Amino acid sequence: MVGMFDLSGKVALVTGANTGIGQGIALALAEAGADIAAAGRSPATETVEKARALGRKAENFGADLSNVAAVQPLVDAVLGQFGRIDILVNNAGIIRRADAVDFTEADWDAVMDTNLKTLFFLCQAVGKHMIARGSGKIINIASMLTFQGGIRVPSYTASKSGVGGLTKLLANEWAAKGVQVNAIAPGYIATNNTAALQADATRNRQIVERIPAGRWGDPADIGGAAVFLASKASDYVQGHILAVDGGWLAR
Ligand code: NAP
Repeated sequence: MVGMFDLSGKVALVTGANTGIGQGIALALAEAGADIAAAGRSPATETVEKARALGRKAENFGADLSNVAAVQPLVDAVLGQFGRIDILVNNAGIIRRADAVDFTEADWDAVMDTNLKTLFFLCQAVGKHMIARGSGKIINIASMLTFQGGIRVPSYTASKSGVGGLTKLLANEWAAKGVQVNAIAPGYIATNNTAALQADATRNRQIVERIPAGRWGDPADIGGAAVFLASKASDYVQGHILAVDGGWLAR
């Protein structure tokens, strides 16, 4: 069975790999054998060092993914250094919080550009390469707000609902070409993204009380799902949005 999850010799491009869920995923993929191309606006120094300590090739690629202009240069640079991309993890994302009546166009555009527009065009650029090779695994990071409405995060909810739809569309178009496109929907994970919620004693208590597992998730909790969706073990899984949420959606 271990062989089904073995990623030896595979190259994984992970966006936003310097911290949080992206770092957790990158290190889990590295533990399973994958070499790591870590892309983001902040250098993923620690992630690269830890992946190298596991015996993997790992490199950092600077890219501001708020603009699609960053996409093709990034893909070209990764292909130049690694020669191939077997796994793409679209993890980089941001959130802006304000009541819907006060929400600004700037906060709408910033979140939609990074979380949805760049994600699609990165899928497209890497997808072309994967289709040409007849194989590849794309994992998009969705959210509980792919399924639910949330509150005070209109552009985030729109973007993550869009990620769910795009994941299914791309799976429909590319499944027969050997490219699997799936998503992971993390529950409440303790990262920079959720620092404001963790710091708010009332919200923090309400969130933990509602999670059947009774705790916030850790970025490492997402790693196993990523290895599964990146590996042979998931070859017949297409267009699925896998919740890793401590039971949040079950309640
Ligand atoms: P995080 O700690 O804030 O990490 C976000 C990552 O995205 C960071 O590496 C960040 O880089 C990168 N990023 C943001 N904007 C970027 C840009 N313009 N160009 C390049 N990289 C950029 O948050 P996280 O919780 O790990 O979030 C990772 C993903 O999981 C996001 O898509 C988020 O929506 C999703 N998610 C999180 C939770 C949760 O509970 N934490 C739940 C569901 C979904 P910098 O470090 O430079 O900012």
